[in-house]
Amino acid sequence: MGGTKGRAVIQSGEQDAGADYASAALQAIADNGLQLDPKTFAVWYEYHRGADPGLRRVIDIIRTNRTSVSPGAMERIFDRFIANVADYRIIRDTADKMQHTLAQLQALVGEAHDGAGQFGRAIRSVSGQFAANEVSIGALVQGLLGEARDIAARTARIQSELTRNAELMQTMQRTLEDARREANTDPLTGLANRRSFDEALQAHAGAAMNEGRDLTLMLIDIDHFKRVNDRWGHPVGDEVLKLAATTVRSGLREGDVAARYGGEEFAVVLPGLTLDGAVEAGERIRSAFAGHQVVLRGSGQSIGTVTVSVGAAAYDPGEPLAQWVGRTDAALYAAKQGGRNRVVASREAALAG
Ligand code: GH3
Ligand code: MG
Ligand code: MG
Repeated sequence: MGGTKGRAVIQSGEQDAGADYASAALQAIADNGLQLDPKTFAVWYEYHRGADPGLRRVIDIIRTNRTSVSPGAMERIFDRFIANVADYRIIRDTADKMQHTLAQLQALVGEAHDGAGQFGRAIRSVSGQFAANEVSIGALVQGLLGEARDIAARTARIQSELTRNAELMQTMQRTLEDARREANTDPLTGLANRRSFDEALQAHAGAAMNEGRDLTLMLIDIDHFKRVNDRWGHPVGDEVLKLAATTVRSGLREGDVAARYGGEEFAVVLPGLTLDGAVEAGERIRSAFAGHQVVLRGSGQSIGTVTVSVGAAAYDPGEPLAQWVGRTDAALYAAKQGGRNRVVASREAALAG
């Protein structure tokens, strides 16, 4: 029946320790009447993981001194023990495990529901048959019916408990997704940040090598951006950076990954594109910049044309990533040296460099 299978499902969570820590964390959050947010979750998750004796000790002390742990205390503990540790790595890793646990829980809720319904129906049908005949058997059936009601009530309780957990998990999942997105995004432009771009670059290089596909990298640097800041002020510079991000993104295909690589520098990884293809894409972006006056959204004021220089280099399978980035950067430098507002491709033999 559903119950037996259900227990097996829960026990399989033991092999997946992350899911157990996650459940224990959710329980602790509920027990302490805390708000479910990524920081609080991360603290309790780490508490149950037990890898940091310092964190464990602090929570244990707080717990013995008071009945519950305040949200302020959570915040401080997070900052002290977790914030600097792994860039929300725990949260990111946990999100995947929780997804799995959530799916299991939902399956379990469905099973428990079906199980209770089936059992109830079977008993009712048997009782209907016997009740028509003999009294002594009728008493037996009464007993059976009572038992059935107990089981149905128990199953319903399990079900509502599981549904509550599943809802918590879903909320947590969304919060974790938000935190994950935030940790990977440049706040000004909304593009990927440097850290997540480095991860994407590595992943794409690995995939390109395994599957023998083309892969190119483009670095795009705004020309004389310092002058924009100097003439119009830093806030206008920020506005221009946002517009520049939009221009970069609009020149790309789905699957290309664009990032804010530095202050006024963007990086794009272009899976499946040859060097010539990337030069074309770079040219498209360059001319989009060169062909438009930048008009400030608030005041409608035009600040003239902002141009970009672009360097591109194709990945040479097996080449160290740093060397690939270095070749792209050298191409960008050549574009600057050549007079800016241009695209230069790295054509040197990659592995010779
Ligand atoms: P080049 O054509 O050689 O690239 O000249 P440049 O002036 O663009 O290059 P440089 O590296 O000398 O100056 C980059 C400027 O970008 C300096 C810095 O103040 C500005 N910058 C970097 N990040 C930001 C930002 O987030 N907002 C604003 N407004 N300016 C930024
Ligand atoms: Mg620049
Ligand atoms: Mg620069």
